[in-house]
Amino acid sequence: MSEQPTPDAIEVRGARVHNLKDIDIDIPLGKLVGIAGVSGSGKSSLALGVLYAEGSRRYLEALSTYTRRRLTQAEHAQVDEVLHVPAALALHQRPSVPGVRSTFGTMTELNNSLRLLFSRCAHHVCPHCGARVEPSLNVAAGLPLRCPTCGHEFYAPGAEDLAFNSSGACPTCGGTGITREVDEASLVPDETKTIDEGAVLPWGSLMWDLMKQVAGEMGVRTDVPFNQLTPAERDIVFHGPAEKKHILYVPKNGQGATPLDFTYYNAVYTVENALAKVKDDKGLKRVARFLREGPCRDCVGTRLSAVARRPQVRGVDLAQAAAMTLGEAIEWVRGVPASLPAEMQPMATDICDSFLSTARRLVDLGLDYLALDRAGSTLSTGERQRVQLARVVRNRSTGVLYVLDEPSIGLHPANVDGLVSVMRDLVADGNTVVVVDHDTRVLTQADYLVEMGPAAGAVGGNVLAAGTVDEVAAAPKSRIAPFLRTSPRRLRPIIAEDKLFDHGHIRIATGAVHTVKPLEVDIPRGRLTAVTGVSGSGKTTLVLETLIPALKAQAAGERMPSHVRWIDAEGIARANLIDATPIGANVRSTVATYADIHDELRRAYARTPEAKEAGYKAGAFSYNTGTLRCPTCDGTGAISLDVQFLPDVEIVCPACRGSRYAEAASHIHRESADGSLLTLPQLMDMSVDEALDATLGLKKVQTRLQTLHDLGLGYLTLGEPTPALSGGEAQRLKLASEMGRVQDDAVFVFDEPTIGLHPLDVEVLLGVFDGLVSKGATVVVIEHDLDLIRNADYVIDMGPGGGDAGGRIVCAGTPAAVAAFPKSVTGRYL
Ligand code: ADP
Ligand code: ADP
Ligand code: ZN
Ligand code: ZN
Repeated sequence: MSEQPTPDAIEVRGARVHNLKDIDIDIPLGKLVGIAGVSGSGKSSLALGVLYAEGSRRYLEALSTYTRRRLTQAEHAQVDEVLHVPAALALHQRPSVPGVRSTFGTMTELNNSLRLLFSRCAHHVCPHCGARVEPSLNVAAGLPLRCPTCGHEFYAPGAEDLAFNSSGACPTCGGTGITREVDEASLVPDETKTIDEGAVLPWGSLMWDLMKQVAGEMGVRTDVPFNQLTPAERDIVFHGPAEKKHILYVPKNGQGATPLDFTYYNAVYTVENALAKVKDDKGLKRVARFLREGPCRDCVGTRLSAVARRPQVRGVDLAQAAAMTLGEAIEWVRGVPASLPAEMQPMATDICDSFLSTARRLVDLGLDYLALDRAGSTLSTGERQRVQLARVVRNRSTGVLYVLDEPSIGLHPANVDGLVSVMRDLVADGNTVVVVDHDTRVLTQADYLVEMGPAAGAVGGNVLAAGTVDEVAAAPKSRIAPFLRTSPRRLRPIIAEDKLFDHGHIRIATGAVHTVKPLEVDIPRGRLTAVTGVSGSGKTTLVLETLIPALKAQAAGERMPSHVRWIDAEGIARANLIDATPIGANVRSTVATYADIHDELRRAYARTPEAKEAGYKAGAFSYNTGTLRCPTCDGTGAISLDVQFLPDVEIVCPACRGSRYAEAASHIHRESADGSLLTLPQLMDMSVDEALDATLGLKKVQTRLQTLHDLGLGYLTLGEPTPALSGGEAQRLKLASEMGRVQDDAVFVFDEPTIGLHPLDVEVLLGVFDGLVSKGATVVVIEHDLDLIRNADYVIDMGPGGGDAGGRIVCAGTPAAVAAFPKSVTGRYL
């Protein structure tokens, strides 16, 4: 056998996944490879659909011939050949939300090092006499410790006994740190009612009505408004003793009064008792309205059992160590070895080094502000994604292909260098990293760039340029080239500092929340405001947890969130968050139905002579419920195949080929403006831009389609299912449905709207914001993208750092003013 030369590239030949145009491309192995292109151009199709799909398939194939046979049948990517692709791992843009038992410390495995440290290197307490027992190598050797005071020998808790996911869990809350308690404020929501009128809700909904009578026997007046009861009476209602009382029970029909002995259940106990007896979700719902989740009293939210909280290192117990932010924990861990007896220092140093090397990655990725015990479910998408990335690097594999989907999400420009260094480390270990991103600060660091395009969907799917950053920057067809070498531009007129508030203010004052300090914020109305700052600085807290709920409460005349001190936003009637979460969970929602175009199309088709002759009314043209829907797939356009042992596979419906309509629908034509005849299934298969020409004369449809076009969505197909749209597409489609109601009483909030957007698309988005602002709307965006920040009218920069080091407003003003402000981290990059 002749020796094979080591391949230096993954060779992709004839790739046709999604919109890819039968492309050939070589991806250098052992390099950092960036993939650029406008959204919908085919970046993910290449990175995930070809490279990752083939890499993971080969990897699984290697596992067993059995799996191999199954998988080759099921999911072969549409590509002629992919040579030399290594086993692949993909880090998705939106990692799943972790469960209740997951914390920043467990997700990063930092807790493992901490537990080892506390099991081996801690001071212990003698269970016999309570005296302090010095750290000793005995623990690591599996030997008992000996109490110097009483001579008692005992074994220290092992690492498992320190885990809240295992035997170290607090028995009261099961290691979740949370318990449900009765929320007394919810028991009597309307104090103007009397008890007889049902003031005490749980007695009505969870108990027999007779409890009112028993309460009367307990000495509570039941016929006066609750707010007139004495403190003693109230105490009986809420906490009175379980005494047996004799009452005369009169049934509803008034006949046959019966004497009964009845035990008094106070309002709180009524709920507790019902909770203990809950059997199903429905029952829990009835009780849940009277409960409040709060930190567990036994472990004070630390999740740990009392035993697990006993050992101490450097005078700190495990719960206190976990409560530190990563930055604080690093400082503390550094000092641990020196705090121990000399013979223990080498072991402690080993454990601490393992902690510190994992921690360094997380700090590089800008996560030092997170506390180790922070619940995983409260982390943002970007934070979760970076945790996932740090974990991958920690595993130190080699020869693997990593595919990263927009890892710069949520990352302040100040942390981009850290991200690049993490990717560099993966490459240095002998891996290949393919990164799909729009951030030119990431792209310009790549060893090799592939640019897809030129546009989205059918007009994309080609390789526009490939080569080093310099080569792509010089490629005549490249559309990213202008952004690779020049810094972003100001595209909107600059509004002078003294004119910013000409349309008025929105002012809000808040108390402290999380790590965010009490603030007074002033937002100019009718302008584009960017809220900036490193991750953890408080942007989300200020905008999503405070501003939006406060504006909504004011508009609805409801109670302010408790941390809002006051708000001055007269005349604001609507506050909308336009986020990037997927639209609709089911395939029945399409671009046409969501954009409210489909109804009018149905009516237009019902007006045609052919439809009238056949007797089809508008309803018949609904693919969800109409008689013309495809009977095979029931109008979903897809059917699922039950492949034994594997998850179901969805395939395009063979009967209607995905059109969702029965054959009969193809006999009903409507004449377009240019005289051509189109069926509804044909129209639904068109892009928005094509449909604009084909529906001339349908006024409402035209307006809506034009809006979609203006928002840069002209390439979407009318029949495309909305759940499959990218985050950015979903966000713009949601905005489209708001566009009809834009005026000066509206506030629109966007959370990182540039996610998934090419610099060219960011320009389109800026145009959209311009449109909103010119109609008088107030636009607030949380952003890291420098193009966007530079083009805002007003910038509120939070920080200066994350967590406790942040939570203030560093400065606010025009982008130029922020750029000139010395203390602003964001300003340095503007
Ligand atoms: P990018 O990553 O550059 O935004 P994609 O590779 O996601 O682009 O999409 C390229 C084209 O393929 C788009 O027209 C998109 O609508 C289409 N596409 C993406 N995913 C699917 C899918 N699962 N089924 C059919 N078409 C898809
Ligand atoms: P940003 O949006 O700027 O990244 P956030 O407003 O999300 O910042 O976070 C500000 C601070 O509040 C951070 O220290 C963060 O860890 C903390 N924080 C945010 N949400 C929660 C929560 N649900 N529980 C505890 N702390 C939180
Ligand atoms: Zn507990
Ligand atoms: Zn069908």
